[in-house]
Amino acid sequence: MKGALVIGAGPAGLMAAEELARAGHPVTVAEAMPTPARKFLMAGKSGLNLTRDESSDRFAGNIALGAGGCLPPHPRGYFGQDEPEFGPADAMRWARELGIELFTGSTGRVFPVGMKASPLLRAWLARLRAMGVELRSRWRWQGFDGDSLIFDTAEGRRLLRPEVTVLALGGASWPRLGSDGAWTGWLAAKGVAIAPFRPANMGLRVSWSDQMQRHFGQPVKGSAIRGGEAMSRGEWVISRHGIEGGGIYAVAAAIRDGAEARLDLAPDLAADPLAARLAKPRGKLSVGNWLRRVLGDPVKVALLLEWGRPLPENASELAALVKSLPIRHEGPMGLDRAISSAGGIRLDALHPSLQIRALPGIFAAGEMLDWEAPTGGYLITHCLGSGRRAGRGAAAYLSRAA
Ligand SMILES: Cc1cc2nc3c(=O)[nH]c(=O)nc-3n(C[C@H](O)[C@H](O)[C@H](O)COP(=O)(O)OP(=O)(O)OC[C@H]3O[C@@H](n4cnc5c(N)ncnc54)[C@H](O)[C@@H]3O)c2cc1C
Repeated sequence: MKGALVIGAGPAGLMAAEELARAGHPVTVAEAMPTPARKFLMAGKSGLNLTRDESSDRFAGNIALGAGGCLPPHPRGYFGQDEPEFGPADAMRWARELGIELFTGSTGRVFPVGMKASPLLRAWLARLRAMGVELRSRWRWQGFDGDSLIFDTAEGRRLLRPEVTVLALGGASWPRLGSDGAWTGWLAAKGVAIAPFRPANMGLRVSWSDQMQRHFGQPVKGSAIRGGEAMSRGEWVISRHGIEGGGIYAVAAAIRDGAEARLDLAPDLAADPLAARLAKPRGKLSVGNWLRRVLGDPVKVALLLEWGRPLPENASELAALVKSLPIRHEGPMGLDRAISSAGGIRLDALHPSLQIRALPGIFAAGEMLDWEAPTGGYLITHCLGSGRRAGRGAAAYLSRAA
């Protein structure tokens, strides 16, 4: 097969395809699903957080690299290369060039004005088509046959030997959107080191008592969750399965890796004034109503009774419990409910161009590499950036081979 093959039509693969086409190479994108970029579109359902309006250095500090990465992130790039890393300003320029207006929210998160991902994807696919990129959907890569790549297609099994390949198959979270991590065994059999997948940006599983059922779906605002050194003031939600949402995702990696999870139900009040409030006589109020007066939110009272019983009589001890309530969870939610995944191709299995050391002519990008990042636009921006790096590397490889 002449030219380049990109496998996976998510943000990383489409960016790699764009770079290859820009360099003048014929590009085919093979995608297993009937339509491209399903996870990207899903990300737009609750508002596509494209990036974060902050300096590239600060941004890079939030990308946690797996084995072989340059830690802490090198100012000139994660692998110490000379080219500056793709950062928030690049992501914003890229979206604006596609005709998408952006706005920055109060926390620095950047969204399309229309919030959705679909207009951005439509404009991007049209530009790729105009550049000659061919998209083949329902083409599922199934591993290797010698040096050839095996595909299941609507027309049956096909074997391809492209001049250069970029793998951009995503991580292993939300597999129903296409990225199921099935490829790990095929690459491992070729000598590529793979770090096991783990959920990232996920909730925590909780077996609730019956009393908590009426709170399912309710948000918890104005709390602080701690996981070791990590702390989050973000909002989260009580669900049938446990606790979920941005506030918990921010500390989930630390808790996943063994840190104790604690909840401060009154983060804006120090322990002493809180104890003074709790020392006031309860009178005829029930414990629940009395606590509600102090904490101001029935959901917080429900959580205190759920995880703090038996409550201490002593006001100082009760204040200490309110400020540091152990979250009684049963571990992180699985990959199927996680926003993203950690693990994948180890960074020390890659050249700085993102060519796989054990597989000359095959590059990899996006969430299939071993890094993780919090939500907040870090994921998509880093997928776009690694896609650009792999695409440029693959284009240079093709030019050298010509
Ligand atoms: C609900 C949700 C909300 C999110 N919101 C945000 C957000 O607001 N901001 C943000 O930065 N990130 C967000 N993310 C994360 C972000 O969407 C992902 O990090 C990003 O899409 C990963 O890009 P990727 O190109 O590496 O992989 P993917 O987007 O997963 O794309 C991989 C592609 O490869 C295809 N593929 C897989 N296996 C094969 C195969 N064998 N053959 C052919 N094709 C294959 C898949 O079908 C898929 O199309 C969200 C994720 C979820 C689940």
